[in-house]
Amino acid sequence: MRDETPGRMNAAVYKEKGVIAVESCDIPEPGPGDLLLRVSYCGVCGTDLHLTMEGWGRPESVGGHEYSGEVVAVGSAVRDFAVGDRVVGGATPGCGACEYCRMRRPSLCSGRGDLGLASALGAFAEFKCLAAASAIAIPEGLSARDAALCEPLAVSLHGITTSGIQKGQRALVTGAGPIGALTLAALRARGIEDVTVSEPSRARRELASAVGAARVVTPDVLEIPAMPFTVVEEPYDAVFECSGSELALRAGLAQLGKAGTFVLLGTGARYPRFDSNRMLLNELVITGAYNYDDGGFEDAIALLAAGTLPTEYLIHDEDVALANLQRAMERLVAGEIGGKVMVAPSV
Ligand code: NAD
Repeated sequence: MRDETPGRMNAAVYKEKGVIAVESCDIPEPGPGDLLLRVSYCGVCGTDLHLTMEGWGRPESVGGHEYSGEVVAVGSAVRDFAVGDRVVGGATPGCGACEYCRMRRPSLCSGRGDLGLASALGAFAEFKCLAAASAIAIPEGLSARDAALCEPLAVSLHGITTSGIQKGQRALVTGAGPIGALTLAALRARGIEDVTVSEPSRARRELASAVGAARVVTPDVLEIPAMPFTVVEEPYDAVFECSGSELALRAGLAQLGKAGTFVLLGTGARYPRFDSNRMLLNELVITGAYNYDDGGFEDAIALLAAGTLPTEYLIHDEDVALANLQRAMERLVAGEIGGKVMVAPSV
């Protein structure tokens, strides 16, 4: 239910590990360079699950960073957007001056500060303020619901860029949550046809099949040869680790062929054990992929607008009101839901 009190809105506030409460709070005030959005949709990210269900969140914070919405007010200095425009929240611009920004690697910007997740006033709320410089217009013909996939798709595209994978090569994706499923979909869209997905949850294995995996397996199928110089029979050129599971890290590394690349997208694995002899003997590359390419949101929204991604599978078919967010998170953690859950805060 909408909060109709002038100047007030409902938001899903993180209270403590596993607990979210819908509370009335002030609608944020846009500064001169800001937009105020009425949030249309906000996806639930694996990071929101870590923050809420594992208790890393800061009490009284509001999560949600994968959002689309309609502009309802603009700051006095805003020229590029007007009331009624539809936008998604994009990346916080880098400083533009540090060595990493000059290398067009804004996710490494020296001025980015800490992750800022715990203090965010996010989009699990009816309204959200954002800098106009961070907003990306939603192209005509693209629904606000599909557009809310822009942020996680930009993460997946960054992983793919980082891997250097080429057409005709083979990929393994470990974990078919939203990031893994979008990585699979984006690999297919980029012409990589031979993609295997490893995933313990049945719902998500089914999702991976529907999205176009050539092969879908349970994690126990991935063999770890005893000797570090032994390469598996059908090795992969790139592994996209999208689960944050230590087991997936170990098994994924062992699936690489010589000179293969292992891309870490999943967070949270504590002290994973990588076989350094396997890395050395096969000249493997292990790299992190954090956030987005330079221009990654523009690429992601263009890919969504092209209409070729199977969003009917990628997005869970039941949208969620703020009041049901905690339950949806519980179901996500239990592996009961395959696709991306969209919160519709104004329902
Ligand atoms: P998610 O929790 O929904 O998905 C993780 C999936 O991994 C689940 O389906 C789970 O069943 C599966 N899994 C668990 N153990 C496995 C194993 N041994 N082998 C294969 N799969 C296994 O999360 P998500 O939203 O898809 O996000 C994935 C990860 O990416 C999270 O850790 C999230 O924090 C991280 N993330 C990273 C970035 C970045 O910039 N790199 C951005 C956003 C999210």
